[in-house]
Parts: sequence; structure tokens; C-alpha cells
Amino acid sequence: MKNKVKKSILGVKPYIPGKPIEDVKREFGLKSVIKLASNENPYGPSPKVLKAIALQSKSLNRYPDGGCFCLREALSKKLNVDPGQLVFGNGSDEVIVFAARAFLKEGDEVVVAYPSFLIYEIASSIEGAKVNAIPLKDFRYDLKGMIAAVNDRTKIIFLGNPDNPSGQYFTQKDMEFLLGSIRKDILVFIDEAYFEYVDEKDYVDSIGLIKKYKNVVVTRTFSKMYGLAGIRIGFGIADLEIIDLLNRVREPFNVNSIAQAAALACLNDQAYYKKIKKELFVQRKYLYNTLCKLNLDFQETCTNFILINVKSDSSKVTNDLMKKGVIIRNMDVWGMKGYIRVTIGTEKENTRFLKALESVI
Ligand code: PMP
Repeated sequence: MKNKVKKSILGVKPYIPGKPIEDVKREFGLKSVIKLASNENPYGPSPKVLKAIALQSKSLNRYPDGGCFCLREALSKKLNVDPGQLVFGNGSDEVIVFAARAFLKEGDEVVVAYPSFLIYEIASSIEGAKVNAIPLKDFRYDLKGMIAAVNDRTKIIFLGNPDNPSGQYFTQKDMEFLLGSIRKDILVFIDEAYFEYVDEKDYVDSIGLIKKYKNVVVTRTFSKMYGLAGIRIGFGIADLEIIDLLNRVREPFNVNSIAQAAALACLNDQAYYKKIKKELFVQRKYLYNTLCKLNLDFQETCTNFILINVKSDSSKVTNDLMKKGVIIRNMDVWGMKGYIRVTIGTEKENTRFLKALESVI
């Protein structure tokens, strides 16, 4: 069958997600396993969100609203953009796929950082585009290098802000510099999956950028801070023209009705998420302090995950931790030798991780 498919997909390396808890329990015969591997919210969504989910589940026989009317209205008010400037996806991953599907064909090129979130590369490669991956410099995007990699065939630049796995962010100045240095017909895709965690004062005002630059698309998600990774909902914000183009490659019922109701309830329960953010900062500090005591280097992060240099074989450390029921991510496979990426969990989870880490390094 290989000669029957699109040639471009043969070179695609499938994305390998963090191992599910149940898999690790089965494989190692463990009763208790914690997962700090996929940057999820360890507390789950708010009780009000769970109520909204239960209520919406009574209408499961009906197709969802393909236009996400109620959520669209609420979000457009919150973000102060036109309702038509929003596109919804089955996770923000899907909006990345829309951009690749709508803009790229064989012979086109995209620019990404390396390592960065792998879906940019996978979605682009599927469409047959060449991926120019510019190595990070000291864990930060090499913006000058990325600008230098732009050529006549470049259609999209993908930027994670903050990025995964580095946990670093761009400032307003960085973004203005990039946008001022490239052609106006290149789509600048700013992925803000971790937006809700960022407190840094010089972080980009991306909604402001969208008003100024017609070639910018920003994505956000309900999977991370809002704790809805399991029901898949994210969205993109851009100029009306870009959203119209992205909508053309979207399936009519791509976002399910439970996800829409849950996302709307999240927006209406900001107090709960404020508490979670506060606790995350406490836990982040606790992890930093203990990692220092363990004499390990790490990247300070503005997200809910930390990149740690375990100063040894990170693949072995990852496996040894898994045997102890702690799932984290080995960054060796993303080109960061000796590094692991750990999601900040609850206090109990973090303590278990730190104890396990100390015992295996
Ligand atoms: N962008 C980045 C940088 C991510 O880390 C993730 C999740 N791992 C996503 C996008 C996708 O999130 P989702 O599809 O769940 O919205």
C-alpha cells in the first residue's frame, strides 16, 4: 500500500505522547502511578465545569453546534475581538493542522525552532512542506536565525510562546522585531497553549498584535490550565480573512458539545483557576528549591513544566522513574541529551517525584 499514499506521509515520524497511567500500571504491576508527563492540570476542572458537563450530557443524541455559538460569544467578549475572529478546534493541535492544511503544499517551507512542539513539524510534513528547524540558542529561540531561514518559499513560521519543552517566552519587543523583519504574506503562528500560566510583565500582547498585523494567528487551549485535556478543545484568534480560510478546512462538527459546554463554564469560573495558578507558583518554587539541593540544573519556566538536566543518561532515569510509578518525559529523544521534562503536579505528586528522582540519579 505504501506506493498508494501521499508520498509526504512516508517521512512523517508519528508523535509519541506521554504514556498513559493505566499502561504503566499494567506493564510494571503497580497499584499507584502518577503522570507528570503531559503538562496537564493535576487538579482537574472546577466543580462548576463538571456540573456543566453532566447537564450537557443529557443532549448527547444531538450533533454539536458546529459554530460554537455560545462559547464564541463569551470568548469574543472576553478577548475583545469580533466573534468571526475565532476558530475552534478539537484541541489547539487541530488549529495547527488547519493552518498547515490551508496554507501548505509540496515545495513550500516552514520555519520552526528545534526542539519545539513536534506537531508543527508533523502537520507541515504531511502537507509536503520542507521544515527548516533552527536550533535553540541557550534554550531560547534564535529569532535572527529564524528570520535568516526565511526564503521565497516560506509560508509559515511557528512559534511556541511559551514554548514546549524549553518553558521560555518571547517579549513584545521580540515579536515586533520578528514581524517587522519578514514579508507580510508569511503566516506567523503563535502557539499560546500555556498562556494562562504566564505572569511576566514583558510577555507579548498577542491580541494587540492581531489588530496590527493581518498575518498573525494565535492559538490557546482549554487543555492545560483549564484541565480539559481529555475532551479536546482549543481555539485560534486572527484577522477575519485568516479565520475564514482556516474554517474552510475544518470539519463541520469538529468540537463536541460537552467540550463546548465545559469550556464556557471554565470562562465563568475564573476564581477556581486563580487558586490553581497560585498553588502552581508555590509548587514551582518547591521544585526549584529541592532541585537546587539535589545539585541539578534546570530552566526557570513561565509554564507548568520544568526542563531538568539530570547530568546522566536521561533515558535510564526516565525508565527508572517509571518503574517507581512516576511518568515523566525523556528529552533525549527531542535532541536534549541528559534532560527530562517534568510537569508540576500537586504537592504530594511533586514530593513523590523528587524522592524518586533522588533515588535514581
Ligand atoms: N502547543 C503546545 C506548545 C503544547 O505543549 C500542546 C500540548 N502538549 C499543544 C499545543 C496542544 O494542546 P491541545 O491540542 O491539547 O490544545
